[in-house]
Amino acid sequence: MIKEKLLDEKLMKVVESNAINRRDFLKYCAATAALFGLSEFDFTTKVAHAIESTSKKAPVMWIEGLACAGCTISLTQSLYPPASKIILDKISLRMHDTVMAAAGELSEAVYDAQVKEGGYILIVEGAIPSADDRFCRIAGRPFRTLVEDAAKKATAVLAVGACSAYGGIPRTTPSKGISVTEALKNAKIDKPVINISTCPVHTDHLVGTILYVLVTGKLPQLDSKGRPAMYFGEVSMHDNCRRRAHFDAGEFITDWNDPKQKNWCLFQKGCKGPQSFIDCTIRRWNTGINFCLDCGGVCQACGEPVFYDQVTPLYMAEDATSKKIFAELKAMRPEHEKS
Ligand code: SF4
Repeated sequence: MIKEKLLDEKLMKVVESNAINRRDFLKYCAATAALFGLSEFDFTTKVAHAIESTSKKAPVMWIEGLACAGCTISLTQSLYPPASKIILDKISLRMHDTVMAAAGELSEAVYDAQVKEGGYILIVEGAIPSADDRFCRIAGRPFRTLVEDAAKKATAVLAVGACSAYGGIPRTTPSKGISVTEALKNAKIDKPVINISTCPVHTDHLVGTILYVLVTGKLPQLDSKGRPAMYFGEVSMHDNCRRRAHFDAGEFITDWNDPKQKNWCLFQKGCKGPQSFIDCTIRRWNTGINFCLDCGGVCQACGEPVFYDQVTPLYMAEDATSKKIFAELKAMRPEHEKS
C-alpha cells in the first residue's frame, strides 16, 4: 500500500491505460532499482516522474543498417516486463524504420526533421558498410552518412546488437561492416557510444540502459569494451554455468545422442563460455525462461567483439577463440597434467 501511494492516480491511469498493471509496474521498478544503485523509493519516484512528464518524453530515433531486424524483434516481443509498453509508449519514439507507419518521402522527412531538432537518444541497429557505401543506402543516401549526421545531434548513442556494437556478421561479408564506434571515429565525430551487444540485443539490457540515461541524465559506467558495466564484463558465462562441474571433471559432450552426456560440458561442441562476459546465466532470455546453455546450445560469445568470424564454425571447437581458450586453460593446469 505504501509503495502504491508513491504513484499518484493520474500516473497510474496512464500506466494502466497501456495494459501495464500496477503490481507489474512496481515489481519492475523494484527489480531495476538495484541495478541503478538507487533505493526502490528513489527509483520508483524518478521513473514515475519521467513517465508522468509525457509532454517532455525523451525523444528516441532508431535507425537500421546492415542487420536482420532481430534486435527490433527482440524488443517488441518482450512479454515481461512489458518493456515495449514502457519504452515504446513512454519515450517519444520519433523514428523507427521497421515499425513506423511512415514510408518513402515522409520517412525521409521525419529523419531530417528529427536531426534538425537534435537532442534525442540515437539507437543504431546494424553495422555500417566500410567497403562501399552502395552496400547500404536508404532512399539513395548512404547509411554511413545517416548515422554520422544523426550522431552529431544526439545526446546519447546506443549501438544495439552485435552488428552495430562490433561489426558482427556483416563484418565477415563483402560489405566489411564496421561498428558505430569505428564509423564515428573514421568521420572524426567525437561522441561516446554505448555498446549493447549480444545477437540479438537483450531487452532488459536495452530497456535498462535507456531508463538509466533517462532517469539519471548520465551515461552508465562502461566496461573495457564500451558496454554497460551493470550487465557486462564482470563474470564469465563459464564461472556461473551449471555444467561447470562437468567441465572441471573433464566430462565433455561428444555425442549428442548419448543420454548420459546430456548435462555435460559443451566445450568440445564449441562453447565459448570462458571468453564470454555477459550476465545470461543470471538474467536468462525469453522473459527469464531459458538461455543457450540450459537448452543444449553452446555459448557463441555473441556479446563479445570476437563474434562472428572468430567463433565460427559454430558447434565445433576449431575456431580461433576455442583454440585460445584451450591454450589458456592448458597453461593454468599444473605441470604434471599438461602432457
Ligand atoms: Fe558451461 Fe561452456 Fe564453460 Fe562448459 S565451457 S562449463 S558449457 S560455459
